[in-house]
Amino acid sequence: MAARKPLIAGNWKMNLNHLEAIGVTQKLAFALPGKYYDVVDVAVLPPFTDLRSVQTLVDADAMPITYGGQDLSPEDSGAFTGDVSGAMLAKLGCTWVVVGHSERRTIHGEDDALVNRKVRAALRHGLTPILCLGEGEDVREAGDHVRYCTAQLDGALEGLAADDVAKIVLAYEPVWAIGTGKTAGVSDAQEVCHALRERLREVHGGPVADGVRILYGGSVKSDNVADLVKSDDVDGALVGGASLNPEGFAELCALA
Ligand code: PEP
Repeated sequence: MAARKPLIAGNWKMNLNHLEAIGVTQKLAFALPGKYYDVVDVAVLPPFTDLRSVQTLVDADAMPITYGGQDLSPEDSGAFTGDVSGAMLAKLGCTWVVVGHSERRTIHGEDDALVNRKVRAALRHGLTPILCLGEGEDVREAGDHVRYCTAQLDGALEGLAADDVAKIVLAYEPVWAIGTGKTAGVSDAQEVCHALRERLREVHGGPVADGVRILYGGSVKSDNVADLVKSDDVDGALVGGASLNPEGFAELCALA
């Protein structure tokens, strides 16, 4: 089986202006010694307005962190007021872009078809989509979470070639665990991450399934990250609230 290096990605959501972003990125670089980057990939996902500041710091200090956007347009350019294209993110040196976060699905009504178009747009521009999937509390209570998440995966990846699927990162984020302080138990996270990997194996083949990184997200903190990433099919974490404190986020990355 391919070795998968853990990835810890901090989703800042709509927090921190570009000046605050400079401070947080500098503190993060200072707090996380270089040796850790050999064993864990560290990324930050700031608001669009902060990306240029983060890029400047990363370039100037040759810091080994990577960064990306929290969303992108499915289109490449044109009359799409307020949208940001994959080409624009790529030009800013982004490695990643979050696609299908539950806050986009819920607040902005994004469905699997749109998520699929966004995944394709990201890949067209050489960005790695961090494709978020996850069930709400009602689905979990009905015991339908595995079917629900694999269906979301199928919809988001429909029609994609295995070569492209191999470039994607998945993030299993149960909606009931995001920003609530409730974390899925280690076995709950493993159950869904494993099911997603097996679905990749079935549809896109073993090498793709074994190579794709699957993150867990939902109230991840320093005190639960190590247990979560010990699971066979959990290859890191997508971290919201706990990524805003640079020292705390550095500690979390070191523990992963
Ligand atoms: C997220 O929104 O991606 C997330 C995981 O948030 P939190 O860690 O705050 O639950």
